[in-house]
Amino acid sequence: MKKKYIAGNWKMNLKRAEAVELAKSIKTALKDGKNKYMLAPSFTLIQDVAEVLKGSNILLGAQNMCAEETGAFTGEVSPLQLRDLGVQVVILGHSERRHIFKESNELINTKVNLALKHGFEVILCVGELLEEREAGKAEAVCEEQIRRGLAAVSSKDMERLTIAYEPVWAIGTGKTATPEDADEIHASIRLVLKELYGEEIAQNTCIQYGGSMKPANAADLLAKENIDGGLIGGASLNAETFAPIANF
Ligand code: PEP
Repeated sequence: MKKKYIAGNWKMNLKRAEAVELAKSIKTALKDGKNKYMLAPSFTLIQDVAEVLKGSNILLGAQNMCAEETGAFTGEVSPLQLRDLGVQVVILGHSERRHIFKESNELINTKVNLALKHGFEVILCVGELLEEREAGKAEAVCEEQIRRGLAAVSSKDMERLTIAYEPVWAIGTGKTATPEDADEIHASIRLVLKELYGEEIAQNTCIQYGGSMKPANAADLLAKENIDGGLIGGASLNAETFAPIANF
C-alpha cells in the first residue's frame, strides 16, 4: 500500500510552551510511524517547533505565505523568511484563506509558483461550499480551483505538490464527507490532473482529504483508493487524537 501523508494544521491555536509540549508528544507518538508526516504551527511558533522536530520524521510546515519575496507588505511573511526558519512545506489556498481573507485563485496561483520556486513542498487546498455541493457543483468548483491554482506549474514541480480536498462545510464542523463521497471527488480530481499532466503524474500525486477527520472516521476514509492522506485541523491539536490517524 502507498504511504499515506498525514498533516496537522494547528491554525491560530497554542502559545509557545504549549506548542513545544504538543510537538514533543506527537514526535514521540510517531517516532516509529511508517507514513509521511507534517505539522503546520502558527508563524510565531515555528522557530520553537522547528527545534523539537529537528532530525525527526515530521516535516515542518507553514499555514500560508506572502505572494512576494520582500518589501512593503505589512503583516505578511515571505518565503525567504520561512526558508530561514527551516520550513519545508507550505499550505496554500486553505478555505479559511479563500473565504475569510478573500484570497483569489490568481493570488493562490502566484503563491504556489513562488513557493515551488523557493523549493518548498506545497499543499494546495480546494473544496466546495455547502450551497455549491447542494447545487451539484462540487466537482466543477474543485476543477476550477485546481486548473487556476496550478497554472504554470511544471510536470517536474508536481513532485512537490499535494492536493487537499477539503469540503468547506466539513471543516471544523464535525460533519465529514462519507468515504464514498470523498473518494468520488478525489477520483474526479485525479481525472483533472490526468488531463493537465498525464496518467503517471495523476496517479502519483497525493490527494489528501480534510474536514473533521478524527480517529473514529479516519480508517474508513484512508482505506479508500483515491484518498492518500489527511489534512487535519482540530484532531491535530492533541497527540491522543492525531497519533491514531497518523499511524493508520
Ligand atoms: C483543516 O483545517 O484543514 C481541517 C480539515 O480542519 P478540521 O480537521 O478541524 O475540520
